[in-house]
Amino acid sequence: MSDPSSQPLIEVRHVSHEYGSTGGHEAELVLSDINLSICGNEAVALLGPSGCGKSTLVRIMAGLITPSKGEVLWKGSPLTGVSPGVSMVFQNFALFPWLSVRGNVLLPVEHLPPAEQAARLEKVLATVGLGAYEYSYPRELSGGMKQRVGIARALIANPEVLAMDEPFSALDVLTAETLRNEIARLLASADHPLRTMVFVTHNISEAVFLATKIVLLAANPGRVDVVVPVTMPYPRDPDSPEFRAAVENLHRILTHTNLPDTAVAVADAGKVSTKVDETRRRIAPVSIPYVTPAEVLGLLGLIDHEATDVFELAERLGKEFGSVVRLVKAAELLGLVRTPGQDVEITPLGLEALAAVPTEQKRIVREQLLKLKIFELLVRLIKVQPEQLLSDEELIRELTIALPHEKPRQLFRTLLSWGRYSEIISYDQRKHIIRLYEGKGRTRVAAPAPLVPPAPAGDPAPPTPPPPTSPAA
Ligand code: ADP
Ligand code: MG
Repeated sequence: MSDPSSQPLIEVRHVSHEYGSTGGHEAELVLSDINLSICGNEAVALLGPSGCGKSTLVRIMAGLITPSKGEVLWKGSPLTGVSPGVSMVFQNFALFPWLSVRGNVLLPVEHLPPAEQAARLEKVLATVGLGAYEYSYPRELSGGMKQRVGIARALIANPEVLAMDEPFSALDVLTAETLRNEIARLLASADHPLRTMVFVTHNISEAVFLATKIVLLAANPGRVDVVVPVTMPYPRDPDSPEFRAAVENLHRILTHTNLPDTAVAVADAGKVSTKVDETRRRIAPVSIPYVTPAEVLGLLGLIDHEATDVFELAERLGKEFGSVVRLVKAAELLGLVRTPGQDVEITPLGLEALAAVPTEQKRIVREQLLKLKIFELLVRLIKVQPEQLLSDEELIRELTIALPHEKPRQLFRTLLSWGRYSEIISYDQRKHIIRLYEGKGRTRVAAPAPLVPPAPAGDPAPPTPPPPTSPAA
């Protein structure tokens, strides 16, 4: 890289992060070995599931968080403290309610001479269309106007990089679209110095509309999955065939990497394998979100007949957005809700469950759970154990192998709570043993088709599974 203009403005090198451990809880790795650079004239989108560490990463780039490991460079030098060239825009606007628009916007430049402050203020308010609101207070402004204040406050420092954390996701669709267009125009405008941007989004179209490079992050721990360049010239037309193709391509990559709920058949001809080995290999499950049956049924009650969006649900439930997304995902996995666009709507099965008596609700949930690969894995694992008794240690070990990026104990507890509620399994807490449920009043769980031919008569006890990494001899 001899061309100085191609030296990255921001370089993230081998960055890992965990938030401080508290009260004896071990700290969880939020970001793992992130390597990423942002060069001049790039607009980089960080796209990934809720909780994968996008906000943490963008704050690390702005110098608002010091990573636990690795380093961040600003124009080739190690960054300590807040970055001199990056300004942040936050999802929830983060305005001071007791300051007027003028007061909020001027905060980052209070050290400059008054004349310079006044000149910059006038210019930046005009840029974001707030000229008439200089003396208004945040409570008098709509969400879109508040975010204009947030953007003005970031731009007044003349940052080389504008960093935005889901800047439009708290706004209604039309307002979001207007602001998105204005940011795109600003980036492309010869009259404005801003050329470089990094932004967090969970919206694929938004990423394709604004970014020159999309960084897809995977979760648990947060890591870079793939980087997808977007080469279309600005302004981009969301109705154009290229745009749609780019969105579809990203959809494919995202669903392929995050939702592989399909059986992966691996043909290892000539290799003898144990039953457990075979079970593990034939079933590639997705995790179920860490929520309880009661929470999901509660969610259905809130949606009822009316489609609503996740933000509104979060508000009604008084819960954090991420936890509502987990709830909705669980309900969707069970076929109880659908999520067209940003909306959540109840399915006919969801309505049936909502109206049903508790035993019927259990039956519906049971039937849906048994369609999931992860429950298929659980049932089969129990069935290949001696006497069909599965120890919880064994299950946790298997979960770690099948879903290496999940938190095995949390997943174990979730499976247990769903499995017990729906009477698929029962659990002996004292002996730490899981078995298939054989309660009165209903038949046992139907056996899935056998994976391997039955062992010949007189076969000794099933072999112990080999360690996960070494293939069975
Ligand atoms: P995203 O923006 O992708 O949703 P975040 O960076 O906000 O992800 O969070 C990543 C993970 O770090 C989550 O599990 C979240 O609960 C955790 N986390 C975020 N902020 C803090 C904090 N201040 N203290 C402890 N844990 C945090
Ligand atoms: Mg976030």
